[in-house]
This record gives sequence, C-alpha cells and structure tokens, in this order.
Amino acid sequence: MLDIRYKTGSEGPAHDPYGYEEWTIWSDNPNFVDPECTLKIHRGLSEWFQLSSLVYEGFKFQKLHGKEELWESTLEKFITQSFGYTFKQIERIYNRMQRPFCKECKVYPKGRDLEIFPGYPGEEVLVHRGCGNPIGCMQNMSYII
Ligand SMILES: [Zn+2]
Repeated sequence: MLDIRYKTGSEGPAHDPYGYEEWTIWSDNPNFVDPECTLKIHRGLSEWFQLSSLVYEGFKFQKLHGKEELWESTLEKFITQSFGYTFKQIERIYNRMQRPFCKECKVYPKGRDLEIFPGYPGEEVLVHRGCGNPIGCMQNMSYII
C-alpha cells in the first residue's frame, strides 16, 4: 500500500515568509528491503528529506550549498529503492489519487482510505477501503519504462 501526502506552507521570519512544499510518502510493500518506510521531502527555505524505516531510523539528509546535484540524485535513489517509483511517478500517482469518487458511498476517498491492488499486468486498481468498491485504475509506469 502506498500513501502520498502533499502540503504547502510558509516558513522563515514572519516579515519575510518563504513558501515551502512538503511531500510525505509512506509504503508498506513487503517486497522491498524496507518493508515499511516513510519519506518526507521538504523544499523551501531549507531543503531536506528524512527517511523513517527499520533501516534508516529518522535519517535526515540536508541539502547543502554546492552539493545540490548529489542531494537530488540521492533523493531519487532513495525514492526508487523504497517505493519502486521515481519522484515524477509519485507526483503522477498523487494527482490521480485526488480524483477517484466512490459511487457507492458518494465520497472522494483519499490517502489511506484508498488501497491499491494489482489488476491486469501493468495496471493497478484503486479500491475504496471502507466498502471495497473499485473506484479507478491506473497504469503502473514501471511496466512502461
Ligand atoms: Zn466506498
């Protein structure tokens, strides 16, 4: 199961606030080395990502001046390793997860109310956790690439 949260806000001094965006990606895929992993990515005045899992217990990686490229590539590596997706794919999945509507319950379930099941090869089915009703599907990009 995969859960993706996205939020924006502001940080820094009140007279000179700076916008930030923050991604929290959570997965409990037993097929990966880290069976349960949370990755928080913060991009704003300060930029860092933090991994919380059995292997990386709260490991925080700060983006340092002059080391931006290393930071980006390390982040990408962790995302692919921990979730099986690239960041671009995570973004795409998140955007698609915002849409599904459960006709049964007349709600737009989000985040942990959604469960992802494998469907046909290369396809994943979104299921509303509360009622078990399939409410959409998406292509698993890793099959296409
Ligand atoms: Zn439902």
